[in-house]
Amino acid sequence: MSQFRQSPFTKEWVLIAPERAGRPQPAHAGPARPPAEHFVPSCPFCPGNESLTPFERLRLPAPGGAGWLLRVIPNRYPALMEGQALEWQRRAGRHSLTGAGFHEVLIETPDHALTPALLPEAHVEAILRTYRERFIRLSEDPRIAHVTLFKNHGRGAGTSLDHPHSQIIAAPVISSWLRTRLYEARRHWDESGMCIFCELMREELAAGERIVEQSEHFVAAAPFASAVAFQVNIYPRRHTASFGDISPAELDGLSKMLRSVLRRLFFGLGNPDFNYVIDTAPAEEARVRYYHWHVRILPRISEVAGFELGSGIAINAVAPEDAAELLRNVDVESEAPGPIS
Ligand SMILES: [Zn+2]
Ligand SMILES: [Zn+2]
Repeated sequence: MSQFRQSPFTKEWVLIAPERAGRPQPAHAGPARPPAEHFVPSCPFCPGNESLTPFERLRLPAPGGAGWLLRVIPNRYPALMEGQALEWQRRAGRHSLTGAGFHEVLIETPDHALTPALLPEAHVEAILRTYRERFIRLSEDPRIAHVTLFKNHGRGAGTSLDHPHSQIIAAPVISSWLRTRLYEARRHWDESGMCIFCELMREELAAGERIVEQSEHFVAAAPFASAVAFQVNIYPRRHTASFGDISPAELDGLSKMLRSVLRRLFFGLGNPDFNYVIDTAPAEEARVRYYHWHVRILPRISEVAGFELGSGIAINAVAPEDAAELLRNVDVESEAPGPIS
């Protein structure tokens, strides 16, 4: 039975229509794709090709000292320019601003074939620690309004290079999409005196049906009105607006949970393309009381088509309860610890 659901975070409607896909298991699960090569001579992110990338900004050495664990570099084809001054032009109906900001790439591992689902926990923790470091550093630039940390995994998620990497874009503007989320969260805070994320997390934990997993510091759940099939959000239990305020214990907890959820997707859905993003209060509003940072993991299983584009209403063919149940039942620990062969 299909059902319209309204997102409490944006007030947008989505149509949950499971009949379009049948049961999630046969429609979506498949064998994990064969891995890429561990080393590709022409890949600019593979070890030995460091001279092909722009000047390195940060490098963590590999344990034992041979080579590197991860690197941060400026994007070779940046969307935003670091040396650019902020210059506004405001005319009626034609506001513009120079594309000043930062566009960095975090090369997550020297191994071309790996993905965070298959990395050791300590390695995922090093990636998240580096996210935090760059997030704080870029947020300090007076031109920057908002820092977006994200990963595109697979061609269907928009990546142009297969080598595992994530990106950091620090921009001088805040989108109207994020403004809407901030506005709804603030309105809820003003009306009820409660954080909408904390309140919903409590309700979801009590109901249980959309919970994927939980730990001391984090809760992973399929959102009630997710527009994307198999979307999972990871919420810190501690109410904090900005990802930059994550504690060392939370970094450890998030690396365990992010890796675990990605393993559920990898083994449960056959290594689908996905994006993940860290949704956080803007750099210039990092201390607001009404927001609650979180991670959104968005598998790219379904296509956006005419109805979505025309109506602004997404169709999700997998009920979040069914998605959560399938992902909950993936045995992440007994699966192969390393790359599949
Ligand atoms: Zn590579
Ligand atoms: Zn909260």
